[in-house]
Amino acid sequence: MLEKIEKLSKVLNESYSEKSLVNSLGTFFEKNFKTKNFSIITENSDKNEENQTEDIFKYPLHKHKKVIGWLCFSEETEELKEFLKYSAPFISLKIQNIILSDKMQKNINFHEIMKNIAKIIETQYELNYVIPIIGEMLDKFFADCLIYLFLKDERTQTNILAWPHACNDQTILKIVSNIQTPVLTPDKKAIALPLKSEGREVGVLVAKSTNDEITSKDTDYLIQLSVQIATTIHRANVYAEILKHATLDALTGFYNRSQLEERLKQEVSNAKRQNSPLCGIMTDIDFFKGVNDTYGHAVGDLVLKTIAKIIRGQLREYDIAGRYGGEEFSILLPFTKIEEAKHVAERLRKNIEEKEIDISKVNPDSDVKKIKVTLSLGIYEMTKNDNDEDLLKKADKALYQAKNTGRNKVVVHNG
Ligand code: GH3
Ligand code: MG
Ligand code: MG
Repeated sequence: MLEKIEKLSKVLNESYSEKSLVNSLGTFFEKNFKTKNFSIITENSDKNEENQTEDIFKYPLHKHKKVIGWLCFSEETEELKEFLKYSAPFISLKIQNIILSDKMQKNINFHEIMKNIAKIIETQYELNYVIPIIGEMLDKFFADCLIYLFLKDERTQTNILAWPHACNDQTILKIVSNIQTPVLTPDKKAIALPLKSEGREVGVLVAKSTNDEITSKDTDYLIQLSVQIATTIHRANVYAEILKHATLDALTGFYNRSQLEERLKQEVSNAKRQNSPLCGIMTDIDFFKGVNDTYGHAVGDLVLKTIAKIIRGQLREYDIAGRYGGEEFSILLPFTKIEEAKHVAERLRKNIEEKEIDISKVNPDSDVKKIKVTLSLGIYEMTKNDNDEDLLKKADKALYQAKNTGRNKVVVHNG
C-alpha cells in the first residue's frame, strides 16, 4: 500500500493539467489495480463524459465536506476502495490546484486584454481600425463563445453590427434592437450588455456560448470589458465629431462657408453637365440683432439652431444647406425649377413665422418665455450663362429687396 501511495504521489507531482493528470492516473490505476476506462468528472467536465460513465464505480472527491468531482472506474474492487480511502484526498487537492491555476491563468489573460484595450484608447481613434482588434482579442479570450459587437448609429439610433461581418442569430438581433439593460437569454447561453460611456449608449456587446451556460465569472469579465470597450468607442466618436466640425458648422450642423462653396461649385457643374435646373436661396433673420440685444447671445444661438432645424426638416435629402455667415443661411436645391423653389421658400418662411421658440431654459431670468422671429428670403434659378458665384449673388440681391420691402417675405430675382 505504502509503495503504491508513493507511486501515486509521483504521478500527482508530474501532472500540470487536468488532461495529463487523467492520462497518468489512468495508466497508474490500470497498472496497479487492473481497472480500465478511468476518468475524472469535475465541474469543468462536459456533460457527455458524465453520461458515458453512468453505471460504473464512482468515488467522490471532496473539498472540505463538499463533493467537487468523481473518480470513475470500470469496476469496483475492495483493494481499490481501500486505496482510495487514503489517496483520494491527495488527488482532490491536486485537482483543486490545477483548477485554481487555470483560473489564475485566465485572470492573467484577462488583465492582459484590459491593458491592451487601454493602450488602444490612448493611441487609436479610428473605429474601423479599433473594432476588429477588440473583436479578435475577445474571440481569443472567450474561446467557447461567439462575440458580437454592435455600434449605435447616431442618426437612426439603431445598433448596427460592427464585429464580425455577419450575425444570423435572430434571437440576438431581436435583443439588440431593443436593449436598455443587460439581458441574459432564458437558456443562459447568451448575454447582451449595453455599452455606455458618459451616460450615452454607444453600442452593445454580445457573447453567445457554443456549449455550456455563460458562467458568472465570464459575466464578470464581460461586464468589466464592456466598460473599457464603451470608453474606447466613446473616444473614437468624440474624435469623429471633431473631424466633422472641420467641415460642418458647430452650432447648426450645416456646411460651413468654405464647404458650402465647394458644394456650390459641384452642384453648378452637375446642373450644367446634366442640363438640369438648380435654384439657390439666401436667407437672413429679421431684426436678429434685437434678439441678441434683448435676450442675450445664448437666446440668439438658440434661435439660430431652431431655424436651422426647421430648414433641415423642410428639405429633401439631396438639398444642401449651409451657414453662409452669422445669421445667414444658404440653400441649394438641385433638380428644382423656380416655381417649386418658391414653394419651398414660402413654406420655410411660414414655418418659421409660426414657430414659438421657448427661451425659458436658456434665459430663465427673462419675463418673456417664448419668442417668435421671421425670415426674409431671396431666390434665384441658375441659367446657362451664370457662373458659380452668380447663383447665390443673385439670390442675395433678391434677399436685399425682401428686406427693403417689408421683410418676412420671399422675393424672386428677375433679370
Ligand atoms: P435685418 O433683419 O434687417 O438684417 O436686421 P438684423 O438685426 O438681422 O441686422 P444685422 O444683419 O446687421 O445683424 C445680424 C446680427 O446677427 C448681428 C449679430 O449680433 C448676430 N449674429 C451673427 N452671428 C451670430 C451668432 O452666431 N450667434 C448670435 N447669437 N448672434 C449672431
Ligand atoms: Mg444679416
Ligand atoms: Mg438679419
